[in-house]
Amino acid sequence: MENDAAKHDEKSTGKSLHGLAWHALPPDEIAALWKTSKQSGLTAQEAAQRLSDFGENCLPEPVRRAAWLRFLLQFHNPLIYVLLLAGSVTLALGGLVDALVILGVVVINAVIGFVQEGKAERALDAVRGMLAARAAVVRDGERQHIDAAQLVPGDLVLLESGDKIPADLRLIHTRNLQVIESALTGESAPVEKESAAVSQQANLADRTNMCYSGTLVSYGQAQGIVVATGVLTEIGRIGAMVSDVKSLVTPLTRRLDQFARQITAFILGVAAVTLLYGYYIAQLPLFDLFLAVVGLAVAAIPEGMPAIVTIVLAIGTRVMARKKTIVRRLPAVETLGSVSVICTDKTGTLTRNEMTAVRLVLAGFEITVSGAGYAPDGGFHINGVSIDPAAIAGFEDLARCALLCNDARIHHDAADNWTLTGDPTEGALMTLAHKAGMEPSGAAPQWPRVDAIPFESERQYMVTLNHDHGGRHLLFLKGAPERVFSLCKTQSGGTAIDRDYWEAAVTRAAQAGERVLALAQAHWTENRQDIEVSDIAPRFELLGLVGIIDPPREEAIAAVAECHSAGVRVKMVTGDHAITAAAIGSQLGLVSGRTLTGDAIENLDDSALREHALTTDIFARATPEHKLRLITALQSQGHLVAMTGDGVNDAPALKAADIGVAMGQKGTDAAREASDLVLTDDNFATIASAIREGRVVYDNIKKSLMHMLPTNGGEAGVILLAIFAGLPLPVTAGQILWVNTVTSVTLALALAFEPAERGVMTLAPRPPGEPLITQALGLRILFVIVLMVAATFAIFNWELQRGSSLETARTAAVNMIVVCELFYLFNVRHFTAHAFRLETLRGSPAVLLVSGILIVLQLAFTYTAPMHHLFKSVALDIHSWAAILSLGLLLFLCVEAEKTFLRIARIDRL
Ligand code: ADP
Ligand code: MG
Repeated sequence: MENDAAKHDEKSTGKSLHGLAWHALPPDEIAALWKTSKQSGLTAQEAAQRLSDFGENCLPEPVRRAAWLRFLLQFHNPLIYVLLLAGSVTLALGGLVDALVILGVVVINAVIGFVQEGKAERALDAVRGMLAARAAVVRDGERQHIDAAQLVPGDLVLLESGDKIPADLRLIHTRNLQVIESALTGESAPVEKESAAVSQQANLADRTNMCYSGTLVSYGQAQGIVVATGVLTEIGRIGAMVSDVKSLVTPLTRRLDQFARQITAFILGVAAVTLLYGYYIAQLPLFDLFLAVVGLAVAAIPEGMPAIVTIVLAIGTRVMARKKTIVRRLPAVETLGSVSVICTDKTGTLTRNEMTAVRLVLAGFEITVSGAGYAPDGGFHINGVSIDPAAIAGFEDLARCALLCNDARIHHDAADNWTLTGDPTEGALMTLAHKAGMEPSGAAPQWPRVDAIPFESERQYMVTLNHDHGGRHLLFLKGAPERVFSLCKTQSGGTAIDRDYWEAAVTRAAQAGERVLALAQAHWTENRQDIEVSDIAPRFELLGLVGIIDPPREEAIAAVAECHSAGVRVKMVTGDHAITAAAIGSQLGLVSGRTLTGDAIENLDDSALREHALTTDIFARATPEHKLRLITALQSQGHLVAMTGDGVNDAPALKAADIGVAMGQKGTDAAREASDLVLTDDNFATIASAIREGRVVYDNIKKSLMHMLPTNGGEAGVILLAIFAGLPLPVTAGQILWVNTVTSVTLALALAFEPAERGVMTLAPRPPGEPLITQALGLRILFVIVLMVAATFAIFNWELQRGSSLETARTAAVNMIVVCELFYLFNVRHFTAHAFRLETLRGSPAVLLVSGILIVLQLAFTYTAPMHHLFKSVALDIHSWAAILSLGLLLFLCVEAEKTFLRIARIDRL
């Protein structure tokens, strides 16, 4: 009872709280109003209760077009209008059966289009669901990552640079926070935020202590209390939808749509000329002629083309999702196949990101560390002799700095596994401190942290300010050696820093492929409790160096080799030291003889950079701006560039690249938002497999065209030739509509499911500007049209000559066309590789399935009474079939001969 009342009270508080001027209240009052703690957040129980009171933190899904409307829209197509018009005219002229057949064609086409579109959209929906936003919160006093949809008012949210803000927050603590609010205000410059209360009258743009859902943290860190979720947020109130809505339209589908329209116009022109010719010159009866011309037009127009391309793309995204690549922008799928350069991060992408400290350099000593992974098992050795590190001067300072200037946590679970949360580089240092006998639970509380400047790639260091119980304040610094050296005046022991000694040590470690960090400390004498970047001046005492290994991923080595054989250059762009990068690069099979550092890039002008960009594989100490220049340099030479990135500052480079690739695990929201693809496993090998899949997608679109265009052309060619040569029609208008309906979409659609050809990753990327209909493809189209027309007339005349009825001859001709298309389907499964292998039959279940369906339909066409009635078909005897199948086989062999010719001419694909 009491519980219920409390619940009720809570609920009503919640509702009445909505709409208060949070920006005008001080943080303490916000926390009190929302019954939450500024330190420990909500309890898990309270959060669960509020979730059921307030609902999930989601924006409404965009309203889908109703199914019936989508179905109706299938009819909104010039071709269908032509058909409907033709049907009406046919009906008016008295051809009831033919009119019904035309109507049937229209409806079946619409149903197929409708089903395919639905499938494609579902495939995309599934992928979209994988990109759910996450949020860092404090609940029950513990920092945790949760699904952003689970956020409730009162939650204490932690923000850092690169985060997408998950709900409307009132900030209670900020550190140099800058937010890009363009999602809300359209203003793309970052705005600074603070926690101090502002005037009640302040408008949205001036509420500097509020962060709004959907905006991005571009710099700094903060904590805030959630004051509105879901539709109650500002962005929810302006009626925004889930922004990530992808449309099914891509440059390629647009190009194809346009192409289809042009063909349609062309075919209508041909049809009109044919009509005029037939009526005035050949003097054919108008009704029959009109029907024939309608049949011609319907047969020739590749109406299934746009639908097939969409479905190929959708299948591609689904396959990629299974292989750990999420496609955020559909056009990326078709561009991927043409990628010629991949610029990739090193750490975590090419390497395993399982870091272990293996080398310590102190003033006068070099120590090796044994053990692997994050377990603190292992010891310290000098020249192979085990030592007690405590006896070495300066060792303890170094270990303490490693422990304190560190945000990583190592967990030891019951199954004796040691796992890491946080940055692996810091994890390695944490484990090192453990091995040195310093437990975080022991040492850290003795030195509470007062303030910190987190690591940023651009700055290359991290600093913390800690004090002990004696009131002594120390700054701890760790970072890239060059940066740290320039901030040090002395070294351990108080003597002046001996740069030659330290630099030689850095080179030694880097040559062994180690990532090197320098550690330093300084006394803090200022009377402040917070540090600014300007405090990080040359004041430090250098404690030593730590060398950390991070071995290359086995699968990355294989993937680099695969990319090279596929004509794709791989370039490593890293923030690490040039020598380290070169050592790792050579293990990966990159050209490591030449490296270019960020500083060197600064000194090159654009044209010099263009020259170096191509021949250099390794770029070290590079920042996001260098990435941007590199992309421009490569693109200006006609390359299609894929670039990986994870930080907030990588967003411009990710956008500028032809394919921006963000990391699903270590990447920031900002990088993901700017990307085309997201790798859920952060692994370079996944990029290579995505490129492979992109090529398969493009190939399959090509193969669908390669089947659809000549077979449609062949059907039309039969009618055209008959009219212009004054021959009897080998197939009636109704029959050609039948053929078109049963074959056009089914057969070519089967090619959407084609597996990769064996050689996809041995060919060079397709040139980005390559026309859809290449010369070789154009020739193939003509070739197959000629073969089909010849086979159809041959069988038709043969039947007539051996005394069969006109109906029999036509039924045979119809089956001939279908058999040609069926045999040709098996030719098309490989661009130029020959088809005389078992795989041609067994390799694609989809092809076998549609073949089976088609055979059943054709048998029904030939042997069932209703069909006889509708299409005037008749049963065929065994001789007819023998002739038809032989000619079909002949066509198959002719195309195989053409493929042999292509192989000799060294044309690998059409
Ligand atoms: P990468 O491209 O390999 O991820 P980063 O920009 O992360 O390169 O790192 C560049 C350099 O900064 C490293 O070589 C290392 O010396 C230093 N560094 C990396 N991580 C940290 C960290 N957490 N704290 C301090 N310094 C770091
Ligand atoms: Mg890094």
